Amino acid sequence: MTDVVTEQAASPASGDMIIADDCVVAFHYRMCEMKNGEKSGWIEESTGREPLMYLHGHANVISGLEAAMTGKKAGDKISITLEPEQAYGPRRSNSFQRVPIKHLHLKPGQKQVQVGEIVAIQTSQGIRNALVVKAGRFNVDVDTNHPYAGRTLHYEIEVASVRAASAEEISHRHVHGPGGHHH
Ligand code: ZN
Repeated sequence: MTDVVTEQAASPASGDMIIADDCVVAFHYRMCEMKNGEKSGWIEESTGREPLMYLHGHANVISGLEAAMTGKKAGDKISITLEPEQAYGPRRSNSFQRVPIKHLHLKPGQKQVQVGEIVAIQTSQGIRNALVVKAGRFNVDVDTNHPYAGRTLHYEIEVASVRAASAEEISHRHVHGPGGHHH
């Protein structure tokens, strides 16, 4: 990872929880692409929405982000640029697949699929999203690369809150409750 700039929260309160394995972290972020040393416009941002929450130490966020979060606390700011290897991985050229439309996980009632649509397909690694690059009557060709594969991404992050995870959250390896997963 490159150019980690952190701004420590002013006057940390005693008892501030430091991000470590099995913490539930809530954070706000903005993300853009770095291309030839230049930042694109913001591609994603959580501003104006609930912060994102994840269980730290269980690979629930990309590896470069998880590494940068370790040791931070609520109020800390991180500015970081991640190479594809620390983000969504390199782009693979052999990731095109022909899939029968009847095998796609489509929305209820949906029968037709369009080029450019993201569909859910079953792979050896479980259900994944894939981009439709060609649509026929019975089959579609999909690109199973993650949309951000092969891209260098820049993140600006502010840690919103940190708390200890419950035993149940740790055993499920994800966050429960507000902002998290519901059963
Ligand atoms: Zn659960």
